[in-house]
Amino acid sequence: MKYTILEKAYSPGDFRKRGHKLIDELADHLDRTLHEKSEKVIEWNPPEKEQIFWKDFLKNGDAEQFFPEVLKHTIHLHHPRYMGHQASPTAPLTALSSMVSALFNNGMAVYEMGMAPTMIEEAVTGFLCEKVGYGPNANGFLTSGGTLANLTALLAARRATASYDVWNKGNGKALGIMVSEEAHYCVDRAAKIMGLGEQGVIKIPTTEDFKMDTTLLETYYERASKNGIEVFAVVGSAPSTATGIHDDLEVLGNFSKKHKLWFHVDGAHGGAAIFSPKYRHTLKGVEMGDSIVIDGHKMMMMPMITTALLFKEGVNSYATFSQKADYLLGQTQQDWFNSGKRTFECTKTMMSMNWYLLLKSYGEELFDAYVTTLYDLGHQFGGLINEDAQFELAVNPMSNIVCFRYIEPGKDNTTLDRCNEAVRQALLEEGEFYIVQTKLRQRHYLRVTLMNPFTTTTHLQQLLSKIKEKASEWTP
Ligand SMILES: *Cc1c(COP(=O)(O)O)cnc(C)c1O
Repeated sequence: MKYTILEKAYSPGDFRKRGHKLIDELADHLDRTLHEKSEKVIEWNPPEKEQIFWKDFLKNGDAEQFFPEVLKHTIHLHHPRYMGHQASPTAPLTALSSMVSALFNNGMAVYEMGMAPTMIEEAVTGFLCEKVGYGPNANGFLTSGGTLANLTALLAARRATASYDVWNKGNGKALGIMVSEEAHYCVDRAAKIMGLGEQGVIKIPTTEDFKMDTTLLETYYERASKNGIEVFAVVGSAPSTATGIHDDLEVLGNFSKKHKLWFHVDGAHGGAAIFSPKYRHTLKGVEMGDSIVIDGHKMMMMPMITTALLFKEGVNSYATFSQKADYLLGQTQQDWFNSGKRTFECTKTMMSMNWYLLLKSYGEELFDAYVTTLYDLGHQFGGLINEDAQFELAVNPMSNIVCFRYIEPGKDNTTLDRCNEAVRQALLEEGEFYIVQTKLRQRHYLRVTLMNPFTTTTHLQQLLSKIKEKASEWTP
């Protein structure tokens, strides 16, 4: 009995049959969403109803209907009216490489458990280091997400720069990092995990336009030193998540150099602009960084989650998790090919295939086309908002992230906050557009991240009309 179940679960025939059917269904889904044959980006269901549905389906549902139901109950990133969070509508080819990863399951902690993905990763990260502008000693690896990559980078930074060996001796000295108050919350979280405490996260206020105010760097650094905190790293946001505004990496690079600090660039979102001749300037100074994070699943069209963490001096990446202080010059040269020594994860997916396959199939022009198209669109949307008296930008966009709000003469800020919040909820429930929201300096803003390269200015005009319509229907 048990034996037959196992045979069934592993049946090549079943896999072939269901696989072909699924690919057909997914291709139809792509056609419907990309070409707007389906009206809705999301068929909204409140959490309580969704919870009941899936509990019930487990008991009474038909397994053959599982994928079609998942499709109905998910948000569709390939729809041009998806403009919400920073997740990419995946290039379909990467769904195939992900499937191969799932089937082969080469976890690659050690070289034997993934010969191809290990060396594919070497090739990809080497190429990325070159594009960043790092020299011949650079290298890196892929890891599971920007959050984990930022933590790993800061651990490497502390190991390489701080005067005290926390990894082996435990926290025995007050250490700190400097970062913009607008940085992604995962930097704060990483610092807390590392035991730096509240005082160890030195948050630099931003200017009017949400950039780290670099004129404050020296003052904050001196104050920290006076308070007995040894600063070991500076983190630059490229760009910061909420607003899409880039810190001035060149200034941060020079400051770090002067004080012998590690300079880490959080390019989870915008690091991919290394591929765009038109927008590479947003990353000016990026090559001065000691490390950089670039997410594949944001601006590089890949499935979640895969992140490149690159080091200017590759040797630093071997020291992060080493158990002994003398490890660095000992065994690393011998087993550089066992990637698990350098990553937080022991096992990971064969994520390198996604990067390599896109590069091999379409060339780096694909990444340029994606980033440039979407950043262009961000600027065009900024222009549309500026021209319309019923809207106001939080800041002129520097990327494909745009924060704005609906305004109306005679309404105070608190009322407008509530109005914008209500509009965004109404849009979600209607499901024709998907946008998100954020709080900036206590005010409520609507936020879009233009992630779909088939979104046009016509869609954006429709969005603005829709917002006005919802705002006029709203009663305080
Ligand atoms: C999205 C983002 C992160 C977090 O990355 P994940 O891959 O979601 O873990 C970190 N920093 C910035 C600037 C981001 O935009």
